[in-house]
Amino acid sequence: MHILSHYIDGQPVQGQSGRFGDVFNPASGEVVARVPLARPEEVDEAVAAARAAFPAWAATPPLKRARILFRFKALLEARQRDLARLISSEHGKVVSDALGEVTRGLEVAEFACGIPQLLKGEFTEEVGSGIDSHALRQPLGVVAGITPFNFPAMVPMWMFPVAIACGNTFVLKPSERDPSAALFLADLLKEAGLPNGVFNVVHGDKVAVDALLVHPDVTAVSFVGSTPIARYIYETGARHGKRVQALGGAKNHLVVMPDTDLDQAVEALMGAAYGSAGERCMAISVAVAVGDVADRLVERLAERARQLKIGIGDDPAAEMGPLVTRQHRDKVVGYVESGVREGARLVVDGRDYRHPGAEGGFFLGPCLFDHVQPEMTIYREEIFGPVLAVVRVATFQDAVELINRHEFANGTSVFTRSGGIAREFAHRIQVGMVGINVPIPVPMAFHSFGGWKASLFGDHHMHGPEGVRFYTRMKTITSRWPEERLSAEFVMPTMK
Ligand code: NAD
Repeated sequence: MHILSHYIDGQPVQGQSGRFGDVFNPASGEVVARVPLARPEEVDEAVAAARAAFPAWAATPPLKRARILFRFKALLEARQRDLARLISSEHGKVVSDALGEVTRGLEVAEFACGIPQLLKGEFTEEVGSGIDSHALRQPLGVVAGITPFNFPAMVPMWMFPVAIACGNTFVLKPSERDPSAALFLADLLKEAGLPNGVFNVVHGDKVAVDALLVHPDVTAVSFVGSTPIARYIYETGARHGKRVQALGGAKNHLVVMPDTDLDQAVEALMGAAYGSAGERCMAISVAVAVGDVADRLVERLAERARQLKIGIGDDPAAEMGPLVTRQHRDKVVGYVESGVREGARLVVDGRDYRHPGAEGGFFLGPCLFDHVQPEMTIYREEIFGPVLAVVRVATFQDAVELINRHEFANGTSVFTRSGGIAREFAHRIQVGMVGINVPIPVPMAFHSFGGWKASLFGDHHMHGPEGVRFYTRMKTITSRWPEERLSAEFVMPTMK
């Protein structure tokens, strides 16, 4: 049995708590590794290493920090397949999908390579007579990242490349369900020349998270995960004086207008609902059928869902793999049962799916519900599985109101051929990321990623310009070099 280590001060460090979590291969159902669950003292060790590394790293010129990230990027490009296979073996998503995740993470590292440009400040000459003013951004210190299981490489890479490029040092607490990707990235960072202590990994559960949230030397916390935990992280971190960005869960709607190209909408929905077995925060879990498009849409979706190719690892034909754990699979099945109980029509039922040759795996076939009503549990709650709910509405106005009433507001999309409808949708919808004929509108690394309402607590979105702002604080300097002696002024200073 493979026992994983923490990674502190540039070295693997064995867990001391005596507590471990099981890491499964979701395709076989077997335990493939055991992950140590840190006690607070081990978190203290990681924070102490990060704190000790901070002064020298913050004093390293941004150009030199960027050069290390350039090397990291090159190493990751060379090893991306290995990382994708590792992700697939613990998460269950197929390798082609895992490769996509690695690419999206790599793009943030590429963005962070531009840090000398991104950190350029502002300067105004003569804000008053003989007085100049400039503003600059400085790193915060030790920052922490707490990440979910569904993107074990990409979500950490939303955070640490920007954080360390800005001059911070980092402690990552990855998901205990697929923890190996974080260690893979730590090794590459070391090989790229990152000084010890700048990037650390502590594995664990609530105990480790709580230790980070109250630690006096942790200045900021980036979190991605489910909404109840995001809210808890935000409140607890803020109460302990930390800057917090906490991204939560989602229920993303895709509106199908009657004028759309239905083939295109169906293909878009298939990938967005069932790709990665629906375990994406930007997965589409609700299709909103407007007007008379509903019957045709459901018929085509059902036909296509029945043909979905479920597979394992690097099977090139596979479109979807298993769910992450048996417990999560059972939870998703519970949602499907509640949908049936509450009166939705289950058009495609994947509950009995067993994968040939991998009967112990955590597989679930695609499920498709029609006639879903807003008060049903399967509409209100995030399922995070291969379950698509079709809600029928009469008009575009009804679709907008439906989406704007939902608690979650991560992503949404409209499929239409009307520029007017598209523009109106983008303008009126109360959601952080919007797609027009794009099913999963994930912003690129040089823009910022984040939802609204219960999908994000805090002020800053991730990566892009918002990421740089989150991981730095502004200092504004006003300076004068007078030739003559100045006398005291007792009134509020104003520029003359
Ligand atoms: P999760 O909330 O269970 O776990 C996320 C992290 O929090 C993990 O590192 C976990 O160890 C830790 N954690 C879990 N319970 C905790 C507790 N009680 N106290 C302190 N820490 C705790 O989420 P998950 O199941 O790993 O990931 C799926 C969720 O993440 C979904 O809700 C999904 O929508 C969300 N997600 C959101 C985004 C986004 O950008 N908004 C992106 C990816 C995933």
